Amino acid sequence: MVSGKLFIQPKIKNNKLKMTKILLIEDEESVRENLLDLLEAEGFNTIAAADGKIGLELAFSEVPDLILCDLMLPEIDGYGVLTALREEPSTAAIPFIFLTARTTRADFRQGMNLGADDYLTKPFTRAELLNAIASRLSKQATLTKHLASNYPSNQFGSEMQVIEICLRRTLERREFQQFQVYYQPQIDITSGKIIAAESLVRWQSPELGMVSPAELIPLAESTGLIVPIGEWILQSVCKQTKIWHNEGFSRLRVAVNLSVRQLTQPDFCQKIVEFLIGNNLSPSSLELELTESMIMKDVNSAIATMTELQSIGVKIAIDDFGTGYTSLIYLKKLPINILKIDRYFIHNVANDPQKAAITMALIQMAHNLNLKVVAEGVETEAELSFLRQHNCDAMQGFLFSRPLPTAEFEKLLFADNGLMG
Ligand code: C2E
Ligand code: CA
Ligand code: CA
Repeated sequence: MVSGKLFIQPKIKNNKLKMTKILLIEDEESVRENLLDLLEAEGFNTIAAADGKIGLELAFSEVPDLILCDLMLPEIDGYGVLTALREEPSTAAIPFIFLTARTTRADFRQGMNLGADDYLTKPFTRAELLNAIASRLSKQATLTKHLASNYPSNQFGSEMQVIEICLRRTLERREFQQFQVYYQPQIDITSGKIIAAESLVRWQSPELGMVSPAELIPLAESTGLIVPIGEWILQSVCKQTKIWHNEGFSRLRVAVNLSVRQLTQPDFCQKIVEFLIGNNLSPSSLELELTESMIMKDVNSAIATMTELQSIGVKIAIDDFGTGYTSLIYLKKLPINILKIDRYFIHNVANDPQKAAITMALIQMAHNLNLKVVAEGVETEAELSFLRQHNCDAMQGFLFSRPLPTAEFEKLLFADNGLMG
């Protein structure tokens, strides 16, 4: 997972980006010249093409650090350019920003589904352009850093590209059966019964074997592929939750982790409503987990979306709480229902006075704000009894159960029996 701590705030620094090579593919001469002047003034190394075919040739020969590409182009259009780039290992991971004059939803979605990293609608300001570039470059740097620490350095490039290629192929062929949703129970600490489950994605790739979310999610986020994967997860979870409700566990709530990419999709709330109505599921059975860093990326727009979701009746949880930089008092401003304390604080909480003090304060404060508190990563009886003693509402962790495939989670539900009726 790319945690909030790793995230580098986008900042344009001429000296740092001097060697950054940007390929601009744009057929309108005046726009092209303007943009080239602007980019060069910012210290970027630029190359340009006036049609899609030349653009692709340059991309393959020069392997730039970032590509800005018009949608409507002679020879090969922007979609064609992007598709060809993504199929070639050497260019598959280059950050790609579409420049488009058209703003219809279909274009936006098609570009994002193909794996564009961002969109700029013409005319855009200098600041918008530079922000988009800086944000893409810093994300790429974050991803590289994250992966470099997980893979031996000489394997990093190729291994990463192999995973990405497999992922793209899977999605192009719509082979969603390769993904599975696992469910980890959340237990009411007072009654000891299952009240909810967190859905956690698993990818069983025929070529790569089991790919963990720690690899899958950052890659899916950096390439935009998280959007179609995330939609599939939401749809599957809603369908499965309804099945469990029909089996008698009518109060079971299921939580879904969101990516910032999903939260910022213009039609996100509408999608959620479609999934709920399509599965005849009550909104309060769906919980969406967001992290502090996701919210802080664009606070106002995140709050607006969260408020809309809450008004529908969907529950909002703040995930991994304590690992970001949100001040406690700020929580008051956020439309949330549940606070999940990060497992870092829970680990050994009963014997670590500092963690104990923080955890107690978090529980108390959350209760003052009328939030329910879920402790993550509970592994020992000592941790559980500490949480019970300090009135934590619910727990999730290996002590009770690991995340389980659907059928096994269902067995646990029937054995637990707490939500029947
Ligand atoms: P998370 O949201 O914090 O999910 C909890 C992670 O903690 C899960 O790892 C879970 O298996 C693990 N865990 C649960 N109980 C314990 C415990 O007692 N001890 C320890 N050591 N770990 C425990 P997992 O499934 O590998 O997922 C890792 C991360 O990947 C998740 O962290 C989440 O950020 C992301 N992720 C997983 N599924 C999805 C998804 O469907 N969509 C999105 N956007 N992100 C996902
Ligand atoms: Ca989570
Ligand atoms: Ca978490």
